[in-house]
Amino acid sequence: KYESLPYERIVDIRQHHLSPALKTCYKKPLLLHQGHMQWLYDADGRRYLDLFAGIVTASVGHCHPKVTEAAQKQIGRLGHTTNIYLHSPIHEYAEKLTSLLPGKLKVLYLTNSGSEANDMALYMSRLYTGNFDIVGLRTGYHGASPYALGMTAHTDYKGGVANGFGCHSAMCPDVFGGIWGGSHCRDSPVQTIRKCSCSPGWCEAKDKYIAQFKETLSTCTSKKIAAFIAEPIQGVGGVVQYPKGFLKEAYELIRERGGVCISDEVQTGFGRTGSHYWGFQTHDIMPDIVTMAKGIGNGFPMAAVVTTAEIANVFAQSLHFNTFGGNPVACSVGSAVLDAIEEDGLQKNCEVVGTYMLKKLEKLRDRFEIVGDVRGKGLMVGVEMVKDKKTRERLPTDQMNLIWEDCKDMGLLLGKGGLYNQVFRIKPPMCITKDDVDFAVEVLQVALTKHVDRTLT
Ligand code: PMP
Repeated sequence: KYESLPYERIVDIRQHHLSPALKTCYKKPLLLHQGHMQWLYDADGRRYLDLFAGIVTASVGHCHPKVTEAAQKQIGRLGHTTNIYLHSPIHEYAEKLTSLLPGKLKVLYLTNSGSEANDMALYMSRLYTGNFDIVGLRTGYHGASPYALGMTAHTDYKGGVANGFGCHSAMCPDVFGGIWGGSHCRDSPVQTIRKCSCSPGWCEAKDKYIAQFKETLSTCTSKKIAAFIAEPIQGVGGVVQYPKGFLKEAYELIRERGGVCISDEVQTGFGRTGSHYWGFQTHDIMPDIVTMAKGIGNGFPMAAVVTTAEIANVFAQSLHFNTFGGNPVACSVGSAVLDAIEEDGLQKNCEVVGTYMLKKLEKLRDRFEIVGDVRGKGLMVGVEMVKDKKTRERLPTDQMNLIWEDCKDMGLLLGKGGLYNQVFRIKPPMCITKDDVDFAVEVLQVALTKHVDRTLT
């Protein structure tokens, strides 16, 4: 039996000695003690199917044996040295990771978190272009450090302190929750129930959102832009998928104004979208800078920026040093993660199992009035909950929470997202199976039926 501190003591320590800004999940927060692939076990030995591990970063599976072995071996050999010396793991990793990126994206920087990676990317863009303004999308999340926080367009994370001058957020092209579009406008096996007048090759919503994007560019400090940063599918924002073609046109508009384009792949990278290794490839675009974190280390604190030699050379005007970034353990772990994705066929699994899940969830959407939208690609899935399908008014938070708690009590962990926490977020370890999906959808169906019964009585 695992010797954990007693639950009450943990709650007490948490209350008095850990950041009160960090919220826990569930009325009675879970005390976890072990993880194995797609499963988590609490201190009493109860098992949960973890459909939110992708955000908590166990991308290839909790305690994946290959990753654990790599970390153990390296920490016993050379646990840490900074990169003022040479060590083999960072060079092996740099070659391996950059070989997975297309075009001129060949120079790697290693950091310790996604926020730090985005800060670096934004700083680089200003230095490289000589321009100042940075543009993102509303409901985007890019981190909690000064530059990144300026581009995180959710008030809840900002704490009332002005952050990031020259930061602008354009209207988010959300074809379900937004004001326009679009029944056939997104790259997902499931389309929205909203009607629009799009035809193949032309998307009404995309055109309208691009007009809004242009308008935002016209409100910037100058006619020159430093960067545009966007996630290929918004994660924290509630698994928002844009209309096809939106990012491509947005990139063109930014480049016309001298800016560079940053793809934040913290949630969408490493094969999660199934059809492609990187989320930006699903939009047929080529960024100038790519940022990565979370799944990159399967839970080990590491993150990365990859850019072109031209941008890297300008950034080399100043010294750049990072004590832990690119340490030998992180690099060995990162390499093992890339091997696991390849050897376990995880990108393909995301496509097959993700599509299977989306199709099953679509049936729940058609059956339950409160399931407004099912969307996503690969194993990045969102279920938007509504009070009324026609008006798309969101399901009140207390009702959302009851469903979420019921799922947990039946052994299923889901995430929540969106500006109003109105979306269930599903980002499991990429190794889940169709059987796991059957279990998850069944649990959700029971929880939704219970909700219907509750509202009828
Ligand atoms: N970008 C995206 C898309 C994210 O989802 C997050 C974390 N939620 C970050 C950046 C910041 O990463 P970190 O928490 O590692 O700083």
